[in-house]
Amino acid sequence: MNLYGYIPESVNEGTGLRAVLFISGCRHACPGCFSPDSWSFRAGEPFTEERQQQILHEVTTHPLLDGVTLCGGDPFFSAAECTSWVQQLRAARPDLTVWAYTGFEYEELITDPARAELARLCDVIIDGRYVEAERDVSLPFRGSRNQRLIDVRATLATRTIVTMQLSMR
Ligand code: SF4
Repeated sequence: MNLYGYIPESVNEGTGLRAVLFISGCRHACPGCFSPDSWSFRAGEPFTEERQQQILHEVTTHPLLDGVTLCGGDPFFSAAECTSWVQQLRAARPDLTVWAYTGFEYEELITDPARAELARLCDVIIDGRYVEAERDVSLPFRGSRNQRLIDVRATLATRTIVTMQLSMR
């Protein structure tokens, strides 16, 4: 697995102050994608064990972070590797929330065991491909109207998709 990018502090990919990991690789090929250079699984730097532990240390010792967001690419194409890293994060800092972006729809995502496991570790999943015809720059944390902010805990508890209604950043 490669890491396309890393932002130690951001307020743009979820609520509060978040560290953002951009995981290389995406096969959705959405027309109008904001980051086509991240589609290659070889883009960026190898996410070596050393680099994983370095970022894990940075994140878990940061006193002001509210959480971590996985972006891409699409982290769910590298679900098993991401799961391992997120499990370590969860163990060290259970107070931090985990958000993840994916081009899969949630219902599609959970049919794959490895992707479902990563999904269960998340608090919020922003799902669905980017659809240019549905583009809406006023939406918080997503680019097109078909994408949903899914409250994973509530969705798992009720076995019904529960979305978050955030109207402003
Ligand atoms: S899912 Fe995201 S990264 Fe992948 S092609 Fe679509 S917009 Fe681009």
